[in-house]
Amino acid sequence: MQELPKTDIRSLTLTQLKDAFVQMGDKAFRGQQVYEWLWKKSATDFDAMSNLNLVTRNWLKDNFVINAIKVEDKQISNDGTIKSGFRLFDGHLVEGVLIPADERMTACVSSQVGCSLSCKFCATGKMDRARNLTPDEIYDQVVLIKSWAWEHYQKPLTNIVFMGMGEPLLNYANVLKGIEKICSPEGLGMSPDRITVSTAGIAKMIRKLADDGVRFNLALSLHAASDEKRNLIMPINESNNLKEVGAALKYFCNKTGKRVTFEYIAFKDFNESLKDAKELLSFCKPIESKVNVIEYNPTGDGAFEKADSKKIDEFCAYLERNGIIARVRRSRGKDIDAACGQLANKKHENALLH
Ligand code: SAH
Repeated sequence: MQELPKTDIRSLTLTQLKDAFVQMGDKAFRGQQVYEWLWKKSATDFDAMSNLNLVTRNWLKDNFVINAIKVEDKQISNDGTIKSGFRLFDGHLVEGVLIPADERMTACVSSQVGCSLSCKFCATGKMDRARNLTPDEIYDQVVLIKSWAWEHYQKPLTNIVFMGMGEPLLNYANVLKGIEKICSPEGLGMSPDRITVSTAGIAKMIRKLADDGVRFNLALSLHAASDEKRNLIMPINESNNLKEVGAALKYFCNKTGKRVTFEYIAFKDFNESLKDAKELLSFCKPIESKVNVIEYNPTGDGAFEKADSKKIDEFCAYLERNGIIARVRRSRGKDIDAACGQLANKKHENALLH
């Protein structure tokens, strides 16, 4: 007879875990102990659970697996940024990054293996989407990156951004569950104020975030403030145009009382003129927002170039003069392909590239 796949023990709630122990004739509090090993102490191996006897550990091994992610190829940039591939239990690979900046230690995590949105300027966009990450795989990335912050900088992790591979709002339920665990006391107890989910703009799901009363922050990858231009670089704009996305964002801000961040990559001779700044101003003015102007990070295909620094500064100054908070974000970790949009598992998953 073929063996059934074992259950990933971390997919069980505390109650389910306690019930499993009671059913096998043991005490409910064993379930509590195992739960603490899994979530408080981040155990990835049943043998590490040293307050359980051998019989119990063997019973766990016979019936369950822990599908934890594993660090592969950790690289450190000369600006201190750390990136690693994370190997998933089924062989896929995603990437995550630690960005140190003074007191701020930011983890940048992935939400999907690859991405289905095909944004023209993004390395992940050249891959197909293989699958969604589970809530635990999202949580694991944060736990591991947090340990790098201690190990390399002796500092706590302060922020988390969902700006790695994938579109978080197309893996909605798992991203929300992952965040719930990150914020829960038996997980990492982080504040949702320190978490930012970045989306290419799925209007329906932005509204759902508001209806679900989320407390984390939202960033929108805008990059062009006219449909004509945005369609050229972000195919998702054809089904979620600026009017719909703008209306969804207003709904989000009204319902949550939050301010959104617009991310705007400045591309040379494409979206960095005064006319573009005016369009951007009229798009974001009615929305409670601020703008981060991002340097374009080359992804190797030569299709885009980064805008001149002087032009970027003028662009921001125009927005600021007109009452918009606008900041330039310089890229980090470029030498190890760890910067925004460069995460693509260059060495590992070329088979997924299209
Ligand atoms: N899918 C989500 C999150 C992943 S991308 C989103 O689109 O927001 C995280 C950020 O990096 C986005 O703002 C994205 O537009 C930006 N980005 C992608 N490619 C980039 C590149 N080559 N240079 C700079 N930023 C890039």
